[in-house]
Amino acid sequence: MRASEAIRIYFDRAADHLDLSAPMRRLLLTAKREVQVHIPIERDSGELTTFIGYRVQHNDARGPLKGGLRYHPQVDLDEVRALASLMTWKTAVVDIPYGGAKGGIAVAPAELSTHELERLTRRFVDAIHDLFGPDVDIPAPDMGTSGDVMAWIMNQYGKYHGFSPACVTGKPVEYHGLPGREEATGRGVGILTLKLLGRLGRPLPGTRVAIQGFGNVGTHAAKFLADAECRIVAVSDAGGGFHRAEGLDVLELLRHARAHGGLLAGFTGGDPMSNAELLAAECDVLIPAALGGVLTAANAASVRAPIIVEAANAPIDPDADAIFDTRGTLVLPDILANAGGVTASWFEWVQNRQHYRWGINRVRQELGRILAESFEQVWQLATARQVSLRTAAYMQGVSRVAKATVLGGLS
Ligand code: NAD
Repeated sequence: MRASEAIRIYFDRAADHLDLSAPMRRLLLTAKREVQVHIPIERDSGELTTFIGYRVQHNDARGPLKGGLRYHPQVDLDEVRALASLMTWKTAVVDIPYGGAKGGIAVAPAELSTHELERLTRRFVDAIHDLFGPDVDIPAPDMGTSGDVMAWIMNQYGKYHGFSPACVTGKPVEYHGLPGREEATGRGVGILTLKLLGRLGRPLPGTRVAIQGFGNVGTHAAKFLADAECRIVAVSDAGGGFHRAEGLDVLELLRHARAHGGLLAGFTGGDPMSNAELLAAECDVLIPAALGGVLTAANAASVRAPIIVEAANAPIDPDADAIFDTRGTLVLPDILANAGGVTASWFEWVQNRQHYRWGINRVRQELGRILAESFEQVWQLATARQVSLRTAAYMQGVSRVAKATVLGGLS
């Protein structure tokens, strides 16, 4: 199923509960602007290669557009469109004053040198610099992009528009970034996992967690949960994974990945396992933190975890979601579970605009407060309306955007 179709199903379910009219549904589902650009760059070899870049600006009823930039070979317009709408609902669920957007370039970043990646990023900014900016649309990191890419974006944007650190978030701390932004998505996943376990009355120490994806989100979620005395029994990346029933040593995993270009291959502190095996691992909490669409009708029945926390965007197909619903597997949905990143991006943007910086403790405290409040609101709504956490989160997000749309005036 295409990513946009999957999100449409979740949207419709919430819209039914909210009794939204057909014209309002159409308005909320339609992107404000979709841009596709070609980006020719000269490779280090002197060869010319053309890449395709996208930016979809979905909805700005609640504030400037906000959303990550993904570098991955499977990026296409449908995926970017789907992820842009997710951002609209996500920023509304945590009630921060943004709309939703997403961008990406169809590229395998590992196959480019650092200089080629920088050229590609700068040429992309050349192509779209009139369409984003601090009050318009603010990109951030996503899969395959990093603080360095954000720094190049800010620098290239400044060549056209002057010093504008708030034009992009997720920048390195030494270059107008925010202490705590890099860890925020994974930390938020950890905070919300603990909130959920607490609500269910499950004891934290020894909770067995399996994490697919050991990049920005997966590593920080693993570290936070290990610090909270959970047992990380399995982790994986694109090359496969490792498991250990007594718990993997997360600091050792991080040291190994740091020393091997971010990859887990060759780790000796656990038994190897495939990504398919990881999804079916014996554990209490499964955290998909890599690609979308990894849990489908074909493999949902093999999942043994009673709780799934969607750290990745759209990792569960609606068919699989229905199976989990029927079986009583609890799913904490992406638009809440991974909202820590955009929340910290908001802090970064606010401080860039004020030319001020909070310390890490304040960032963590504010992040914890916003996520805890949002979780409680979604939990209460799910309980009151007898719906899943996903439907409740969509209801919360969609209703806030619909309300702002009406308040802003429709004529
Ligand atoms: P990343 O590029 O830092 O890491 C991705 C990880 O996934 C890597 O370990 C990679 O090896 C692994 N991976 C790739 N293909 C895989 C496969 N087929 N099977 C198993 N693992 C695979 O990306 P990230 O920033 O950690 O993002 C991960 C997910 O979280 C994405 O879905 C992204 O949209 C979502 N997300 C990220 C942020 C953020 O702030 N970075 C915010 C919200 C949501």
